[in-house]
Amino acid sequence: NTISKVTVVGTGVIGNGWITRFLANGYQVTATDPAPGAEERMREAVRNAWPAMEQMGLAEGASVDNLFFEEDLAKAVGSADFIQECVPEREGLKRSVIADIDRHASAGAVIASSTSGILPSTLQADAEHYPERVIVAHPFNPVYLVPLVELVGGAKTDSEFVENAKEFYNGLNMKPLIVNKEIEGHIADRLMEAIWRESLHIVNDGVATTEEVDASIVYGPGLRWALMGPFMTLHMGGGKAGMRHLLEQFGPALKLPWTKLEAPELTDELAEKVIEGCERQTAGVEMEKLEERRNQFLIELQQLLEKYWP
Ligand code: NAD
Repeated sequence: NTISKVTVVGTGVIGNGWITRFLANGYQVTATDPAPGAEERMREAVRNAWPAMEQMGLAEGASVDNLFFEEDLAKAVGSADFIQECVPEREGLKRSVIADIDRHASAGAVIASSTSGILPSTLQADAEHYPERVIVAHPFNPVYLVPLVELVGGAKTDSEFVENAKEFYNGLNMKPLIVNKEIEGHIADRLMEAIWRESLHIVNDGVATTEEVDASIVYGPGLRWALMGPFMTLHMGGGKAGMRHLLEQFGPALKLPWTKLEAPELTDELAEKVIEGCERQTAGVEMEKLEERRNQFLIELQQLLEKYWP
């Protein structure tokens, strides 16, 4: 592939995660972000994540010294082959930043948005030059360790750019998944949202605390989910006859009111309950320590995944 220069626009949680993954794979990375102190925060985030990358294995020539900060967006994207947009999830802001990138980037460069939920057709609407190269490439936190990236093209996207992006992300040891139709939330976040919504109901109704909801996943379905998605999990739950038997037995339950389906109202009381619960669960442990523990777990889990699901 012909991509050698990568630019990241927006150096928050996700932008810094991408930067780390690009650097670890030997790329030269330029980053831009107008917030005061952004460069220092970015360098600190990359430094903190680097031991995990060393453990995963660095590409030849990979170094944190290949990272350049450029305040001016036009200059930052001007000579890039691949641009990863990671500004906050606000439609108006994203549309205007993407239009700006499109104005200054060279014609063949891919413009990939990290958006969690906005449709690519919406994001490319204001790009006047080459909207064909605007795609969604939605990653998962921490981007430097979780391999999935969902690729979605919009109405004006030329599928060649989606294919190029797929090849590029494959080369970063990722698992790019092309989503055939654009929907809000793409695939994984739509699923995550259902869990999130029901979790809020359960806490709101006093059925369980945030700790108990988390435990119900960590010691239960979460263990299986690291290896299998909902379909394989339920197929195996059906015994020898697999999904056929499962559907006979539990199909009718889909009509029972197991779930609430609608999101609960996020009252101040519910918000407090959830925030207090999470702070209680992590009491006395700094976010950096939690990240270190999560990273180590994800590294070992991926080694297991390769062993059992080659
Ligand atoms: P964040 O708030 O941590 O970071 C956003 C960064 O963008 C900030 O540093 C901000 O200063 C910068 N920014 C604001 N305006 C800008 C501009 N005009 N040009 C350049 N930079 C600008 O947000 P985040 O969590 O990193 O999310 C970024 C994107 O990634 C969102 O679209 C979000 O939906 C998506 N995403 C987030 C997650 C997650 O778990 N946080 C996961 C997947 C995808």
